[in-house]
Amino acid sequence: MTSPVWHPFTQHALEPPMKRIVKTEGACLIDEDGSRILDAISSWWVITHGHRHPTIMAAIRAACETYDQIIFAEYTHEPAEELARGLVKIAPAGLEHVFYSDSGSTCVEVALKMALGFFHNSAAPRRRICVMEHGYHGDTIGTMSAGERGVFNAAYEPMLFGVDRLPFPEPGREQDTLDAFESFCATGDVAALLIEPLILGAGGMLTYPASILSELKRIAARHDTLMIVDEVMTGWGRTGSVFACEQAGVTPDILCTSKGLTGGALPLAATLCTAEIFDAHLSTDRRRTFFHSSSYTANPIACAAGVANLKVWNDEPVRERIRSLQQMQEERLARFETDPRFANMRQVGTITALDLKVPAGGYLSQVGPRLRAFFRERKLLIRPLGNVIYLMPPYCVTSAELDRAYAAIEEAAACFAAGQL
Ligand SMILES: *Cc1c(COP(=O)(O)O)cnc(C)c1O
Repeated sequence: MTSPVWHPFTQHALEPPMKRIVKTEGACLIDEDGSRILDAISSWWVITHGHRHPTIMAAIRAACETYDQIIFAEYTHEPAEELARGLVKIAPAGLEHVFYSDSGSTCVEVALKMALGFFHNSAAPRRRICVMEHGYHGDTIGTMSAGERGVFNAAYEPMLFGVDRLPFPEPGREQDTLDAFESFCATGDVAALLIEPLILGAGGMLTYPASILSELKRIAARHDTLMIVDEVMTGWGRTGSVFACEQAGVTPDILCTSKGLTGGALPLAATLCTAEIFDAHLSTDRRRTFFHSSSYTANPIACAAGVANLKVWNDEPVRERIRSLQQMQEERLARFETDPRFANMRQVGTITALDLKVPAGGYLSQVGPRLRAFFRERKLLIRPLGNVIYLMPPYCVTSAELDRAYAAIEEAAACFAAGQL
């Protein structure tokens, strides 16, 4: 019997039948055969503390006794209020308002609308959005427009709007990025720079130094251009700090967070902004309202999961776990440093990545699906981005589990070299 389910980012004509996952636990997925699969990519970067963290699960169960969905205009509720207070406290100082949505893509859409709305409501409207080459911000039309163009969005090209693109700050060519930004800003029409701080995720785990982010902020401030940081992947400790922009000493004008917001347990997103942006929409003139909502905005059960996530951050040694994971990752990555089969070893906080040297790289490189199958056979969930192999495990991962992942990476390189992959 074939399934009616159409899976995301899946070429069904090429994929083998999928195993069902029947349970999740810690850093593992348990399949229908009882196999424990190490979730080395945190189920697409959402699970932070580990699967089914007891505090978060208990909060969800408790919220279910009281709430389901509640309209979020005209009325409010305590889980949303408490979470918003907590977010303002944990986020960089200066972000004072919280707008809820339900996914990474939607919180970035909200950010873009806030930035354009801010200028629309001012005396001098601006129309351009500036982004970084190789960026990824989601799969809706707006976020695809802002992201890198390629095979993923070629079919939708006629619907995508134009943006100004900064070259990625390759080592030694950082000044080109800054100069490009300066000249885009000089047109006076750039409303906002939308950027993934410190590491570009889906674009291939490309890293750049925090100093670039602070320089970009300085340039933006000089031109009254807003800075939107897309912390959908980087948020909640992945890069070593709660939010990546902290490492650059930057308070953005707008911050987007989703994936780890509930510890990965339920879908929820938030866009945080400064008082200046909120106030630009505050008026007795109804036309200045922020016109955005989705039906499930601020779902109370998801917000309760978010509150529980904050509690975990507050009550448990999460920062120490992150530091120790960072250390474990560093030690294991080191063995590949002089390995000629790999290039571009890199690490930001808990995330490591390296490129398997192949004749033809890029996302559609045949090696990607083959590596994925190779890891799947070894009960590891690792999904290379083309020839880029990366690990982004939940913070509860053990050193033995990490050893298994790195041993498989080494074995994969050996098989590839032997022409067996
Ligand atoms: C995953 C991701 C998104 C999109 O989030 P969804 O929840 O999949 O819509 C946006 N920005 C970044 C940086 C991401 O990693």
